[in-house]
Formats: sequence, C-alpha cells, structure tokens
Amino acid sequence: MPDDNPASTTDGLPTPLGPVGHRSRTGAHPERVAAGVTMVTSERTDLRVAIIGGGVIGLSIAWTLAQDGYAVEIHDDQPGLGASYAAAGMLAPISEASYQEPELLALGLASLQAWPEFAARLTQASGVDVGLRAEGSLLVGFDTDDAVGLARTADMLAHHGLEQRMLSSREARTLEPALSPRARSALHVPGDPSVDNRWVMHALLVAAERAGVQFHRQRVGLVTVDGRSVGVRRVDVESNSTSAPVHEADLVILAAGAGSAQVPGLRDDARPPVRAVKGQSVRLGGAAGLLGRTVRATVHGERVYLVPRSNGELIVGATSEEVGEDLTVTAGAVHQLLRTAIEVVPEVAELELVETLARSRPGTPDNGPLIGSSPLPGLLVATGHFRGGILLAPATSDAIHRLVSDLPVPGVVEPFASQRFSGSGHDVTEAIA
Ligand SMILES: Cc1cc2nc3c(=O)[nH]c(=O)nc-3n(C[C@H](O)[C@H](O)[C@H](O)COP(=O)(O)OP(=O)(O)OC[C@H]3O[C@@H](n4cnc5c(N)ncnc54)[C@H](O)[C@@H]3O)c2cc1C
Repeated sequence: MPDDNPASTTDGLPTPLGPVGHRSRTGAHPERVAAGVTMVTSERTDLRVAIIGGGVIGLSIAWTLAQDGYAVEIHDDQPGLGASYAAAGMLAPISEASYQEPELLALGLASLQAWPEFAARLTQASGVDVGLRAEGSLLVGFDTDDAVGLARTADMLAHHGLEQRMLSSREARTLEPALSPRARSALHVPGDPSVDNRWVMHALLVAAERAGVQFHRQRVGLVTVDGRSVGVRRVDVESNSTSAPVHEADLVILAAGAGSAQVPGLRDDARPPVRAVKGQSVRLGGAAGLLGRTVRATVHGERVYLVPRSNGELIVGATSEEVGEDLTVTAGAVHQLLRTAIEVVPEVAELELVETLARSRPGTPDNGPLIGSSPLPGLLVATGHFRGGILLAPATSDAIHRLVSDLPVPGVVEPFASQRFSGSGHDVTEAIA
C-alpha cells in the first residue's frame, strides 16, 4: 500500500472549486437488483473523491467508486484497524431486530441480501475468501423470562415474515451439542450469516488498491473555502492543527466511524451526531467444531454472543459502554464476557485466550446510520453504523455510489438521510453542485 502521496497535493489553499466540483454523470446502467439495493455501473469520470476514514465503510465506498472510474483517495493513518477490525462479523439484522426499528431492519435485510454477491465480487477482485458462513444463529434463554422474551422475538420475526423456530432445550442441544444443559429455551434464526471481518478488511484493502484507490496514511481535517468543502489535509494528531498542503477533491466523504464528529475543519452544522460506544471482545483459539453457528444468550441479565470462525477461532463479545473514546481493555469486562460465555458453552473454559480488544462503535441518536448529503456543499456523510457497519457496508457503498452518480437511492436508505436530525432532506445535488 503506498504511503502518503504528495503528487496529489497542492501547496497552501486550493482555488475554490465552486460548481465545477461535480461533473454530472450520464449513461448509468442499473444492473443487478437485490431487495432494494441495485448494483449499477456507469461511464468513467474524472471526479476526484477524498474519503476520510478507511474502515469497512470508507473502503467499501472507495472500492465501489474506483471500480466505476472515479479517482479516489483514502485518508487514514490506520486503515482497517478501527471498529471494523474488532467486529464479530455477524450479518444479523434478524437476530438484532427490534420492534422500535423497522426501518433499520429493512435496510439490514436489503444489505444482507446484497452480501453474497458483494462477497463473491470482493473475493474475485482480491483473491481473498471472506469467510461467509450461512449457518445462521441460535438465540438461547436460561430462565422463564428469557423464554418469554424469545417467544416475543419469534412473534415479531413471524410478523415480518422472517424464518425462525422456537426450540426446546433438547432440540437446541441437538443442533449445538456444546450448549450448556442449563439452557431452557432457544430460537433458531437460520437467516443470519456471518463473515470474518478481518478477511473482509484485508480483501477490501487489496481490492481497493487494485482498483486504483490511492491510500494516504495520515489523519486529516476538512478544508473549506467560501462555505464549500474543497479537500482535506493532514492534521497533527497531538495538537489537532492543520497546516499541511491540501489534497484537493471535488467531493469529500466523511466515513471516519466513531471519530466522525471530531474531524477538524467541520462546520458545527455539518458535524454528524455520532458518539463513541465502547465495545470489548475476546478472541479464543482451539474452538474448531465446538459451535456450528452463532450463539447469542442473556444470562442473569448479561448478554453475550459466541461467533465461530472457519479457522477454529471463537469471538466472544461484546460490552456496550457509554464512556466515550476509550480503548482500554478492562479486567472486569473480560471476566464478565468469559464468565457468561462459559455459562452458555462450558467448554469455552478450555479454549486458548488469543486476544482481547476494545474499539469504539459509531453510535447515533436513533441507532441508524447517517448516509447522504451534509449542509456543507461538497461533503457527503457515511457514518454512524453503530452495531451494524459490517452488515451495512454493501447497502451503504451502493447508496453513496448512486448519490455521487446522480442516481436515485433505494427507498430503504431514505430514512437514514444524514440530515434527518437537522430536519433536512436527502438532496445530494445540494451537497455537490
Ligand atoms: C466489539 C464490536 C463488535 C461488533 N460486531 C459487529 C458485527 O458482528 N456485525 C456488524 O455488522 N457490526 C459490528 N460492529 C460494528 C462495526 O464494527 C461498525 O459499525 C463498523 O466497523 C463501522 O465502520 P466504519 O468504517 O464506520 O468505522 P471504523 O472501522 O472505525 O473506521 C473508521 C476509520 O476512520 C479513521 N479516522 C477517524 N478519524 C479520522 C481522521 N480525522 N482522518 C483520517 N482517518 C480518520 C480511523 O482511523 C478508522 O480507521 C461491532 C463493533 C464492535 C466495537
């Protein structure tokens, strides 16, 4: 991966790009349709796009745009090592569905449906198998209250026409023999697969670079001239000051995950309402064959999930802590995760402790992502994916590609307009005209 590439910078402030910033696209051809997410290809363009943040969202967007001929730069001092590195890789809109969030469920289902093709294209482009596993999830209950909760979840999923089945304790143990005999009830959700998110990140880095994306290993701030975003430039991490040359761009995409609200140079009204929600998790080794699918459970009020990987590892996660940006792994969190996991699957106690990790999820006021225009012309936003950034990467990259290409976004994305908290709409032409 190339280091910072000064060839694309200019000294000092750039000339304001004004309306020339966005060169209108013609000749787009809708190609494949999957539950409201349509993959499109169109003619090549010389539009220069700078993306702030090289997590799963920034990289998916970069790869998608670069395949279509856009000149894309990613700016990130540690691409691939944010929340996307720590995720468990569950593609779980069904297991995580809530009565209160039907629109998020619809977006998650659309993105889930796009995942197999996204994974296949990614593997073809990178040569990396992303570990897509289709075995689904088992939600397990340990007491009467859990059984009632699972029955309610089953009703809600049935209401949405989603496949699920309540299992007795015996049926659950037939499906997953390593499950504790103390498990009282279970709900089988066959539709929620998983991927190995680290392989996804590796594949995206390779595919993006092969598609011509330029990587600049630097932390950046936004540069604006006359109330319009015109590019980015390196910020000094210690002082948060920016005096470096500007990387000019016709369009900047803010995809800095939990750090999105802190990006220097953002006008207050363009600052996305994103907060850091800390998640700690544990990676265990030697678990080959222990579980066939993701197991989720609540034990004495403590929630846990166990996600098996094809390489014999098991991910145990995760805490959800409203403590702001803090990447400290705490003994208490690791203790609680392992204690709960061992109650669900006793053999977890025998596994090798490979890694403990803490990262920040990008949370939003309504748990939904922010996808679309900002009040600042020349700036698009793709952030706030909270618990579902891996799941939502195909839908998000497709939506941003469409917005950049002057194509309508699928209806399932519209509720997640990035300006919904400031009462504005989804009009990208306002952002890039
Ligand atoms: C423990 C845990 C488990 C999870 N499990 C799942 C799961 O099973 N399934 C799922 O779908 N989701 C899961 N998630 C959520 C998922 O990880 C996130 O939603 C997703 O990674 C967000 O992607 P992102 O690209 O927005 O952010 P990130 O991956 O955090 O990337 C943001 C990038 O922006 C960069 N950046 C920040 N500021 C700047 C700046 N000023 N200049 C340049 N670069 C900058 C950072 O260095 C970082 O690389 C989990 C999260 C956690 C923490």
